[in-house]
Amino acid sequence: MINLVGIALNFQYPIIGIVTTTPLNPFIRRERIFVSTKINSSVFGYACCITSQNVVAIPRGSFVHSVSQTETLIDGDIVLVTPEGRINVMHRSCDADHTVFITNRCNSRCIMCPQPPSNDPPDLQDINEKVLSLIKAGSLQHIGITGGEPTVVLDQLCQTLVYLKSNFPNAFISLLTNGRRLSDFNLAKQVVAVKNKKLLFCIPLYADNDVQHDAIVGVPGAFADTIQGIYNLYRLGRRMEVRVVVMRQNFARLTAISEFIYRNMPFVAHIAFMGMEYTGEAEQHLEDLWVDPDEYSQQLYAAVWHLHRRGMNISIYNIPLCLLAEPLWRFARDSISTWKKNYLEPCNSCSVKEKCGGVFGTSAVQSENISPLSL
Ligand code: SF4
Repeated sequence: MINLVGIALNFQYPIIGIVTTTPLNPFIRRERIFVSTKINSSVFGYACCITSQNVVAIPRGSFVHSVSQTETLIDGDIVLVTPEGRINVMHRSCDADHTVFITNRCNSRCIMCPQPPSNDPPDLQDINEKVLSLIKAGSLQHIGITGGEPTVVLDQLCQTLVYLKSNFPNAFISLLTNGRRLSDFNLAKQVVAVKNKKLLFCIPLYADNDVQHDAIVGVPGAFADTIQGIYNLYRLGRRMEVRVVVMRQNFARLTAISEFIYRNMPFVAHIAFMGMEYTGEAEQHLEDLWVDPDEYSQQLYAAVWHLHRRGMNISIYNIPLCLLAEPLWRFARDSISTWKKNYLEPCNSCSVKEKCGGVFGTSAVQSENISPLSL
């Protein structure tokens, strides 16, 4: 998410609006946020104005002034502006992808969580609804729902799914959930009550056994709950993706995890092996967790081919091409969100940069084995 900061003037509550860099007819300014290097007292009627100028003498209207890098805001972006002067870009106008952070709360305590759980601000649902209401219908191809753990705010989740089905009927929806609460069949039924064939449940599985999985998740019984959640969704005819995040704790057992998935859940639509983002809790536990993708390339190769040969649908997320054996390139996806994606200095001379998904710019550490390829 792009964040800018400035000095707020004349408002006390968060404002959400659509960026415009050209002056608009006064009748359509109400939901617009005017961004300009020059603001004067003739600017009125906008939800807010953002400027790099130092504004001191305008008594009315909401402003954030003295903002640097206002040029990063482009027409159609949806931004949240706070009375503390923070400007958060909630949706980029050029993106066909949108993520709804439905809650910060979680019922697990994963050792590598990139966004450690916290309490929700009271206006979180209002903010999410407002942002969605400002996105042009039909402009999205994909919507991710994430948290925290979305199922801990069940009513909000169900309302959001209903809203998305009626307002973005053509968008694919990925619901990132640990699946634990879905071990309750009645609760799983509530979540799937909104019949949306474009909804995919994305559920992480870190091990082929409860001891390792529960240790990573930080909750005894988590493995059993997640497996039961997956079976309940299968009974209810839902599509699922199983996500295997690779870390030091589990890389040696990747083939065993593959075999476990094949034997116990051959019905899942997709399996993703995922490189890790070393931020949040993962950064705190770096010494325990860090493993260079180069170090587990053999295990990953074996795990992917084990499933591929058995007709399963596989992808590799978040691992750049230079850290993968070439036969695995066909499974590598451009999976890192645009605002997190980065290419390092060696990438400038790499012949496959166009095809490569890059690395997490948000990670505290990068592989020392990233090196340009010449094909
Ligand atoms: S050098 Fe950079 S662009 Fe090339 S494969 Fe590696 S990460 Fe990707």
